[in-house]
Amino acid sequence: MPIPLVDLRAQYATIKPDIDAAIARVLASCAFAGGPEVEGFEKAFAAYCETDHCIAVGNGTSALELALRAFRIGPGDEVIVPANTFFATAEAVSLIGAVPVFVDVDAKTALMTAEAIRSAITPKTKAVIPVHLYGQMAPMEAIMELAAEKNLIVIEDCCQAHGARYRGKRAGSMGHAAAFSFYPGKNLGAYGEGGAVTTRDSGVDAFIRLFRDHGSKTKYEHDMVGRNDRLDGIQGAILSAKLLHLEKWNTLRRKHAATYRSLLKGNPKIGLIEEMEGAEPVYHLFIVRVQNRDAVRATMAEKGIGVGIHYPIPLHKLKAYSDLPGKKSFPVAEKLASEILSLPLYPELTEAQIHEVVRALGECV
Ligand SMILES: *Cc1c(COP(=O)(O)O)cnc(C)c1O
Repeated sequence: MPIPLVDLRAQYATIKPDIDAAIARVLASCAFAGGPEVEGFEKAFAAYCETDHCIAVGNGTSALELALRAFRIGPGDEVIVPANTFFATAEAVSLIGAVPVFVDVDAKTALMTAEAIRSAITPKTKAVIPVHLYGQMAPMEAIMELAAEKNLIVIEDCCQAHGARYRGKRAGSMGHAAAFSFYPGKNLGAYGEGGAVTTRDSGVDAFIRLFRDHGSKTKYEHDMVGRNDRLDGIQGAILSAKLLHLEKWNTLRRKHAATYRSLLKGNPKIGLIEEMEGAEPVYHLFIVRVQNRDAVRATMAEKGIGVGIHYPIPLHKLKAYSDLPGKKSFPVAEKLASEILSLPLYPELTEAQIHEVVRALGECV
């Protein structure tokens, strides 16, 4: 039996009655764009993240962009982002006319560090976007301390870290604002597109609420130019239903990751991403590092095992950023990009499947 990288069908099978009832509720009310189901989800998700406000938007990229806009970041400003992340982290910066400035990541955790940020600060630096990549939070205490010293805004990219903690604090509760994606494959995924900003700042909350709804609080009265970036009512209802399962799902992801670790740790040909002290990651992805990665990937695929690369090209090597001035060499991110392989990981994965993946990987390396 093939083992996929993610299995959304397996998850739907376990929660079908909840999801079908949630969708039926929205069909009955016809509150399709925003509305009470979205408001209910916003309250529940803010509480889950142990913060004050949650504003639901159309997707994670919009969440990043609107969070930056809320702090009036724009043309002439620099925003520091890690070289190893999904493109959207930097894309959101470029979309508002600011310049993404890349920094290398830590070789053990693949995360951005406060030291790396410090080395990239210029008089134009306004903000940093630490990415809680693969489900592990970046070292937020040190990053917030540096940000206070240098007067920088910190936007957490939590798109892979719903429910993660670092030294007891939740992802999305530590920065000035944070962006989440509810893309279907994320730890908390909609059945379509979705995203959210969380923040403790009521000014940020008010700005994004206005911006995502054409700058309008009262119908046909527009206080500023915004755009349409609302979450669908159906997605709000589905996300509320799924949020009730998130802790259990994250616990299962951690358990599967621990099984992978214990089975793989004796193999000198396989490297692993380290957990920081005080980290409680939620394992959006489980990453291994191997030397002959492309060959391993091809053979795993032939054996019916779904593997991925997150991500094959570091941001500074992408065509979209070929004209960007600034540093062009980030050895850790480049080495990672050539070695990383994402193994199947989702809550419904079985122990037997994990053993099968590990056996196949052992044969490939
Ligand atoms: C998924 C993701 C995004 C973008 O979210 P979308 O909802 O797809 O727009 C941004 N950053 C990271 C790290 C992601 O994994």
